[in-house]
Amino acid sequence: MALLVQKFGGTSVGTTERIEAVAELIIRTVQAGHKVVAVVSAMAGDTNRLLGLAQQIDAKAAPRELDVLAAAGEQVSVALLAIALIKRGYPAVSLLADQVCIRTDNKFGRARIEEVETHRLQQELEQGHIVVVAGFQGRDFEGNLTTLGRGGSDTSAVALAAALQADECQIYTDVDGVYTIDPRICPAAQRLAYIPYSDMLELASVGAKVLHSRSVEYAGRFQVLLRVLSTFRPDAGTLMVYGEAPQQPLLSGIACQHGLTRIHLEQASPELTSSMLELLSSRNIDVDMVRTDTDSVQQAEWALANTDWQQVAEEARELLKICQGATLRSQANLAKLSVVGCGIGTQADIVTRVHQLFDSLNIELWAVYQTQTRLSVLMAAEQVDATAAKLHQVLFGSDN
Ligand code: ASP
Ligand code: MG
Repeated sequence: MALLVQKFGGTSVGTTERIEAVAELIIRTVQAGHKVVAVVSAMAGDTNRLLGLAQQIDAKAAPRELDVLAAAGEQVSVALLAIALIKRGYPAVSLLADQVCIRTDNKFGRARIEEVETHRLQQELEQGHIVVVAGFQGRDFEGNLTTLGRGGSDTSAVALAAALQADECQIYTDVDGVYTIDPRICPAAQRLAYIPYSDMLELASVGAKVLHSRSVEYAGRFQVLLRVLSTFRPDAGTLMVYGEAPQQPLLSGIACQHGLTRIHLEQASPELTSSMLELLSSRNIDVDMVRTDTDSVQQAEWALANTDWQQVAEEARELLKICQGATLRSQANLAKLSVVGCGIGTQADIVTRVHQLFDSLNIELWAVYQTQTRLSVLMAAEQVDATAAKLHQVLFGSDN
């Protein structure tokens, strides 16, 4: 008998029919002799709808209240799933994050999980209950409701799996695994049976929407066995592996991320650059492609989400005053294209082929960033999807 955490995304619980189908899937797992903790997202579209209501009243609504509002979507879906399980004769109980006690920091809208109490969960499991937990939610040390950032239910599931030392954390979604590229951008996308942890972490952080990047980070910290699979098409999906993968790929995939702003600082003192980056990290804002040059003009640049920049732009411009002569330029609505895999660091010809393609398509690159396992470029948003599809042909096509 195994203990499994099964997470169902918004599309999987998007209608009452689908919720009933999810209940059947959980019951099949229970019938196979396993214990299940299910984690669910809000019904598809619900979180957007709720946040839209707040927008109608105040575009700058208080973050604390936005979290109370956004967390409501998951309260609906957990109850409906528990009702569907109970109707089928399977004892189930729904729990909100506050009832489980999923403790987070107090960064509303993007809180990080700090601790998960297992007492209540264990108690319910011992009584033979299927436990249905609300994803996305947490509570801070003062008892306020928090949310983990969009897509955060994946992280709730992984955190519960880690705390309970579950045998596996299964992320059920509308695609049947992790693909070499988003199949909507390129139909030639290939499903990966295995993905190394480090590649998954990179892919999730550069825009592959399949997993919330913090969930991957969290899984790595506690070595949680994580599998991505489809709610609608039962299959083995993609298993994330630690250490050597059975078929270690040179490249794992290509990802695109839209809605990015590039920040470029010039004549900046090192203090100014670090104050800027501190400001962003104090808000749990993720930045990428950070580059600092200590040449005579002391430049620094990085990329972050347009919406994140809008939140801190005013404060950042205030900070400029500590360094006379420093200038800041921001360029919004860019997109990032990334290629991920260990081949980036070990196979020079891969990097050459990527750049040859950009040259032949005359793509203007606003920034290039390369590590051992990733090559990312910033470019005009309109070009990114088509370029990614062509790049997939070059790197993953049949002649690869
Ligand atoms: N319901 C939340 C969202 O829409 C969390 C999630 O789906 O994972 O972002
Ligand atoms: Mg998701």
